[in-house]
Amino acid sequence: MIGFLDIEALVVPQSVIQEGHHFLRIAGRTGREGLVLWIGRRDGVKFVVTELVIPEQQGIRTNDGVCVIIEGAALARLNADLYKRQLQLIAQIHSHPQAAYHSSTDDEYAIATKVGCLSLVVPDFASRPFSLAEYVTFRLNTAGQWIELSTIEVSRFIHIAGGG
Ligand SMILES: [Zn+2]
Repeated sequence: MIGFLDIEALVVPQSVIQEGHHFLRIAGRTGREGLVLWIGRRDGVKFVVTELVIPEQQGIRTNDGVCVIIEGAALARLNADLYKRQLQLIAQIHSHPQAAYHSSTDDEYAIATKVGCLSLVVPDFASRPFSLAEYVTFRLNTAGQWIELSTIEVSRFIHIAGGG
């Protein structure tokens, strides 16, 4: 299963990025983590994101902090919808209250699970205006590990299209 390992560039509309960032920011104002998804289609070794998906989710507070839960039923509905529309999920984006990193919970409950897909984490509940440099980007390798991409790797891989 090659998944997205061969993908060399991800094209994301500015509007998708802004809409997602806004959602995470609003969730953060009430002390909750949020999670959004980028979906679209492959075009050779390029993947073009066509829309943002905000799955049904529950941001909860625990003794250890906060986390976001997508229930199985919501996930199943999402997968059925993607299949029907011939779209694929390539990236998940979620917020953290403070530092951006991939926690063990993030590893275990990742929604984007194909090799080569991305997981972006934004710090400080996305309280500042969007800046890709503030997001920490991880890519899933064949061993099932989320490997952090360097700033240069991210700038080569993620292309923001339109609207500045
Ligand atoms: Zn997390």
